[in-house]
Amino acid sequence: MTNRSVPLSTPAADAVAAATGEPLIVLTGVNKHFGDLHVLRDIDLTVAKGEVVVVLGPSGSGKSTLCRAINRLETYESGSITIDGMPLPEEGAALARLRADVGMVFQAFNLFAHKTILQNVTLGPIKVRGRSKAQAEKRAIELLTRVGVEQQAHKYPAQLSGGQQQRVAIARSLAMEPKAMLFDEPTSALDPEMINEVLDVMGQLAQEGMTMIVVTHEMGFARRAADRVIFMSDGQVLEQAPPEEFFNHPTTERAKDFLGKIL
Ligand code: ADP
Ligand code: MG
Repeated sequence: MTNRSVPLSTPAADAVAAATGEPLIVLTGVNKHFGDLHVLRDIDLTVAKGEVVVVLGPSGSGKSTLCRAINRLETYESGSITIDGMPLPEEGAALARLRADVGMVFQAFNLFAHKTILQNVTLGPIKVRGRSKAQAEKRAIELLTRVGVEQQAHKYPAQLSGGQQQRVAIARSLAMEPKAMLFDEPTSALDPEMINEVLDVMGQLAQEGMTMIVVTHEMGFARRAADRVIFMSDGQVLEQAPPEEFFNHPTTERAKDFLGKIL
Protein backbone atom coordinates (compact mmCIF):
# COMPACT_ATOMS: atom_id res chain seq x y z
CA MET A 1 0.00 0.00 0.00
CA THR A 2 2.88 2.37 0.57
CA ASN A 3 5.15 3.36 -2.26
CA ARG A 4 8.58 2.04 -1.31
CA SER A 5 10.42 3.65 -4.20
CA VAL A 6 10.48 7.09 -2.59
CA PRO A 7 12.45 7.34 0.66
CA LEU A 8 10.67 8.97 3.59
CA SER A 9 13.79 10.63 4.88
CA THR A 10 17.27 11.33 3.65
CA PRO A 11 18.95 8.30 5.18
CA ALA A 12 22.54 8.29 4.04
CA ALA A 13 24.05 10.63 6.61
CA ASP A 14 22.01 9.14 9.46
CA ALA A 15 22.89 5.59 8.50
CA VAL A 16 26.58 6.42 8.55
CA ALA A 17 26.18 8.21 11.86
CA ALA A 18 24.44 5.16 13.35
CA ALA A 19 27.53 3.12 12.67
CA THR A 20 29.65 5.60 14.62
CA GLY A 21 27.21 5.83 17.55
CA GLU A 22 27.37 9.62 17.55
CA PRO A 23 24.92 10.86 20.21
CA LEU A 24 21.90 12.89 19.05
CA ILE A 25 19.57 13.06 22.07
CA VAL A 26 21.24 13.18 25.48
CA LEU A 27 19.41 13.37 28.82
CA THR A 28 21.51 13.73 31.95
CA GLY A 29 20.05 13.51 35.44
CA VAL A 30 16.62 14.77 34.41
CA ASN A 31 14.09 15.15 37.23
CA LYS A 32 10.49 16.26 36.97
CA HIS A 33 7.67 16.48 39.53
CA PHE A 34 3.95 17.07 39.15
CA GLY A 35 3.29 18.40 42.65
CA ASP A 36 4.39 15.63 45.02
CA LEU A 37 4.61 13.09 42.23
CA HIS A 38 8.19 12.43 41.09
CA VAL A 39 7.48 11.50 37.45
CA LEU A 40 11.02 11.50 36.02
CA ARG A 41 13.74 10.33 38.39
CA ASP A 42 17.35 10.96 37.43
CA ILE A 43 16.86 9.98 33.82
CA ASP A 44 20.12 9.39 31.95
CA LEU A 45 19.56 8.42 28.35
CA THR A 46 21.62 8.77 25.19
CA VAL A 47 20.12 8.03 21.80
CA ALA A 48 22.61 7.74 18.95
CA LYS A 49 22.03 8.99 15.44
CA GLY A 50 20.10 6.37 13.53
CA GLU A 51 19.15 4.45 16.66
CA VAL A 52 15.60 3.18 17.31
CA VAL A 53 14.71 3.09 21.01
CA VAL A 54 11.40 1.57 22.08
CA VAL A 55 10.14 2.69 25.48
CA LEU A 56 7.99 0.21 27.38
CA GLY A 57 6.40 0.40 30.79
CA PRO A 58 3.11 0.40 32.65
CA SER A 59 0.64 3.24 32.41
CA GLY A 60 1.72 6.19 34.53
CA SER A 61 5.42 5.29 34.49
CA GLY A 62 6.45 8.57 32.84
CA LYS A 63 6.83 7.55 29.20
CA SER A 64 4.77 10.43 27.77
CA THR A 65 6.37 12.93 30.12
CA LEU A 66 9.79 11.78 28.93
CA CYS A 67 8.86 12.37 25.27
CA ARG A 68 7.22 15.68 26.06
CA ALA A 69 10.29 16.86 27.97
CA ILE A 70 12.53 16.12 24.97
CA ASN A 71 10.26 18.28 22.82
CA ARG A 72 9.98 20.87 25.56
CA LEU A 73 6.24 20.41 25.86
CA GLU A 74 7.06 19.90 29.56
CA THR A 75 9.62 21.67 31.69
CA TYR A 76 11.83 19.82 34.18
CA GLU A 77 13.48 20.92 37.41
CA SER A 78 17.00 19.58 37.14
CA GLY A 79 19.33 17.88 34.72
CA SER A 80 19.90 18.67 31.08
CA ILE A 81 18.66 17.65 27.66
CA THR A 82 20.64 18.32 24.51
CA ILE A 83 19.80 17.66 20.86
CA ASP A 84 22.82 17.37 18.59
CA GLY A 85 24.91 19.01 21.30
CA MET A 86 22.60 22.01 21.77
CA PRO A 87 20.59 22.59 24.95
CA LEU A 88 16.82 22.79 24.46
CA PRO A 89 15.77 26.35 23.62
CA GLU A 90 13.27 28.02 25.96
CA GLU A 91 11.00 29.84 23.55
CA GLY A 92 10.44 31.68 20.30
CA ALA A 93 11.75 30.78 16.85
CA ALA A 94 14.44 28.52 18.32
CA LEU A 95 11.78 26.45 20.09
CA ALA A 96 9.77 26.18 16.87
CA ARG A 97 12.92 24.92 15.12
CA LEU A 98 13.50 22.38 17.91
CA ARG A 99 10.00 21.02 17.38
CA ALA A 100 10.73 20.81 13.66
CA ASP A 101 14.05 19.06 14.34
CA VAL A 102 12.40 16.58 16.71
CA GLY A 103 9.07 15.58 15.21
CA MET A 104 6.42 14.14 17.51
CA VAL A 105 3.48 11.91 16.68
CA PHE A 106 0.86 11.45 19.39
CA GLN A 107 -1.86 8.93 20.12
CA ALA A 108 -4.50 11.46 19.01
CA PHE A 109 -3.85 12.41 15.42
CA ASN A 110 -3.66 16.15 16.08
CA LEU A 111 -4.12 17.28 12.48
CA PHE A 112 -5.45 20.78 11.85
CA ALA A 113 -9.15 20.03 11.32
CA HIS A 114 -9.90 23.06 9.13
CA LYS A 115 -6.99 22.60 6.77
CA THR A 116 -6.71 20.11 3.94
CA ILE A 117 -4.27 17.21 4.17
CA LEU A 118 -1.92 19.02 1.79
CA GLN A 119 -2.11 22.23 3.85
CA ASN A 120 -1.45 20.23 7.02
CA VAL A 121 1.80 19.01 5.52
CA THR A 122 2.96 22.28 3.89
CA LEU A 123 2.20 24.72 6.71
CA GLY A 124 5.27 23.96 8.88
CA PRO A 125 7.86 23.89 6.08
CA ILE A 126 6.58 27.26 4.79
CA LYS A 127 6.37 28.93 8.22
CA VAL A 128 9.28 27.40 10.12
CA ARG A 129 11.68 26.27 7.40
CA GLY A 130 11.04 29.16 5.00
CA ARG A 131 10.16 26.97 2.00
CA SER A 132 8.23 28.38 -0.96
CA LYS A 133 4.67 27.10 -1.40
CA ALA A 134 5.69 25.26 -4.57
CA GLN A 135 8.68 23.56 -2.90
CA ALA A 136 6.60 22.61 0.12
CA GLU A 137 3.79 21.18 -2.01
CA LYS A 138 6.16 19.14 -4.14
CA ARG A 139 7.74 17.56 -1.08
CA ALA A 140 4.34 17.09 0.61
CA ILE A 141 2.99 15.15 -2.37
CA GLU A 142 6.12 12.95 -2.35
CA LEU A 143 5.65 12.21 1.33
CA LEU A 144 1.89 11.63 1.05
CA THR A 145 2.59 9.25 -1.82
CA ARG A 146 5.18 7.48 0.23
CA VAL A 147 2.76 6.89 3.13
CA GLY A 148 -0.02 5.93 0.70
CA VAL A 149 -2.49 8.80 1.13
CA GLU A 150 -1.79 11.00 -1.91
CA GLN A 151 -5.37 10.44 -3.12
CA GLN A 152 -6.58 12.25 0.01
CA ALA A 153 -4.42 15.38 -0.43
CA HIS A 154 -7.35 17.74 -0.98
CA LYS A 155 -9.65 16.26 1.65
CA TYR A 156 -10.03 17.31 5.27
CA PRO A 157 -8.81 15.18 8.21
CA ALA A 158 -12.33 14.12 9.26
CA GLN A 159 -12.82 12.50 5.83
CA LEU A 160 -9.90 10.09 6.45
CA SER A 161 -9.70 6.92 8.51
CA GLY A 162 -7.68 6.97 11.74
CA GLY A 163 -4.88 5.02 10.10
CA GLN A 164 -4.75 7.46 7.18
CA GLN A 165 -4.76 10.45 9.55
CA GLN A 166 -1.90 9.00 11.54
CA ARG A 167 0.11 8.42 8.35
CA VAL A 168 -0.55 12.06 7.41
CA ALA A 169 0.68 13.09 10.88
CA ILE A 170 3.91 11.19 10.22
CA ALA A 171 4.26 12.78 6.77
CA ARG A 172 3.66 16.21 8.32
CA SER A 173 6.50 15.70 10.79
CA LEU A 174 8.81 14.35 8.08
CA ALA A 175 8.12 17.38 5.88
CA MET A 176 10.08 19.40 8.45
CA GLU A 177 13.16 17.27 7.76
CA PRO A 178 13.55 16.24 11.39
CA LYS A 179 16.74 14.90 12.92
CA ALA A 180 14.69 12.58 15.12
CA MET A 181 11.10 11.43 15.57
CA LEU A 182 9.25 10.75 18.81
CA PHE A 183 6.19 8.50 18.70
CA ASP A 184 3.95 8.36 21.77
CA GLU A 185 1.62 5.36 21.42
CA PRO A 186 0.88 6.24 17.78
CA THR A 187 -1.36 3.22 17.22
CA SER A 188 -3.21 3.08 20.55
CA ALA A 189 -6.26 4.97 19.29
CA LEU A 190 -6.54 3.00 16.04
CA ASP A 191 -8.91 0.21 15.09
CA PRO A 192 -6.93 -3.04 14.95
CA GLU A 193 -7.02 -3.35 11.17
CA MET A 194 -5.28 0.02 10.83
CA ILE A 195 -2.43 -0.58 13.23
CA ASN A 196 -0.16 -2.35 10.76
CA GLU A 197 -0.40 0.29 8.06
CA VAL A 198 1.04 2.79 10.55
CA LEU A 199 3.63 0.38 11.98
CA ASP A 200 4.75 -0.40 8.41
CA VAL A 201 5.51 3.26 7.76
CA MET A 202 7.38 3.50 11.07
CA GLY A 203 9.33 0.33 10.33
CA GLN A 204 10.34 1.66 6.94
CA LEU A 205 11.49 4.91 8.52
CA ALA A 206 13.56 2.96 11.04
CA GLN A 207 15.20 0.99 8.24
CA GLU A 208 16.04 4.19 6.42
CA GLY A 209 18.10 5.30 9.41
CA MET A 210 15.79 7.76 11.17
CA THR A 211 16.59 8.29 14.85
CA MET A 212 13.44 7.30 16.72
CA ILE A 213 12.06 7.06 20.24
CA VAL A 214 8.87 5.01 20.18
CA VAL A 215 6.51 4.50 23.11
CA THR A 216 4.32 1.56 22.18
CA HIS A 217 2.58 -1.55 23.43
CA GLU A 218 3.15 -3.25 20.07
CA MET A 219 5.67 -5.89 21.12
CA GLY A 220 6.04 -7.26 17.59
CA PHE A 221 7.19 -3.84 16.43
CA ALA A 222 9.57 -3.58 19.40
CA ARG A 223 11.13 -6.95 18.55
CA ARG A 224 11.43 -6.15 14.84
CA ALA A 225 12.44 -2.52 14.80
CA ALA A 226 14.13 -1.62 18.09
CA ASP A 227 17.87 -1.44 18.49
CA ARG A 228 17.27 -1.06 22.21
CA VAL A 229 14.32 -1.42 24.56
CA ILE A 230 13.99 0.79 27.59
CA PHE A 231 11.73 -0.29 30.42
CA MET A 232 10.35 2.47 32.65
CA SER A 233 8.58 2.12 35.95
CA ASP A 234 7.67 4.87 38.44
CA GLY A 235 9.67 7.51 36.57
CA GLN A 236 12.86 5.47 36.40
CA VAL A 237 14.62 3.63 33.61
CA LEU A 238 14.83 0.18 35.20
CA GLU A 239 16.22 -1.81 32.29
CA GLN A 240 17.74 -1.21 28.89
CA ALA A 241 18.75 -3.99 26.53
CA PRO A 242 18.47 -5.16 22.95
CA PRO A 243 14.91 -6.44 22.38
CA GLU A 244 15.65 -10.18 22.32
CA GLU A 245 17.58 -9.87 25.57
CA PHE A 246 14.86 -7.79 27.26
CA PHE A 247 11.99 -10.03 26.16
CA ASN A 248 13.78 -13.32 26.86
CA HIS A 249 15.68 -12.33 30.00
CA PRO A 250 14.12 -9.38 31.84
CA THR A 251 16.13 -8.85 35.03
CA THR A 252 13.78 -6.91 37.32
CA GLU A 253 10.60 -8.23 38.94
CA ARG A 254 8.68 -5.25 37.60
CA ALA A 255 9.67 -5.96 34.02
CA LYS A 256 8.83 -9.66 34.44
CA ASP A 257 5.46 -8.69 35.90
CA PHE A 258 4.82 -6.22 33.03
CA LEU A 259 5.73 -8.74 30.35
CA GLY A 260 3.64 -11.41 32.08
CA LYS A 261 0.59 -9.20 31.75
CA ILE A 262 1.01 -8.16 28.14
CA LEU A 263 2.55 -11.14 26.34
P1 ADP B 1 2.76 7.18 30.84
O1 ADP B 1 2.86 7.87 29.55
O2 ADP B 1 3.89 6.22 31.11
O3 ADP B 1 1.43 6.52 31.04
P2 ADP B 1 2.80 9.86 31.94
O4 ADP B 1 4.12 10.42 31.60
O5 ADP B 1 1.63 10.27 31.13
O6 ADP B 1 2.90 8.26 32.00
O7 ADP B 1 2.43 10.20 33.43
C1 ADP B 1 3.31 9.94 34.53
C2 ADP B 1 2.62 10.34 35.81
O8 ADP B 1 2.45 11.76 35.82
C3 ADP B 1 1.23 9.74 35.98
O9 ADP B 1 1.05 9.43 37.33
C4 ADP B 1 0.31 10.85 35.53
O10 ADP B 1 -0.93 10.76 36.17
C5 ADP B 1 1.07 12.07 35.97
N1 ADP B 1 0.81 13.26 35.13
C6 ADP B 1 0.99 13.32 33.79
N2 ADP B 1 0.71 14.56 33.33
C7 ADP B 1 0.33 15.28 34.41
C8 ADP B 1 -0.08 16.64 34.61
N3 ADP B 1 -0.14 17.51 33.57
N4 ADP B 1 -0.38 17.04 35.86
C9 ADP B 1 -0.30 16.18 36.91
N5 ADP B 1 0.09 14.89 36.80
C10 ADP B 1 0.40 14.44 35.57
MG1 MG C 1 1.58 7.94 27.95
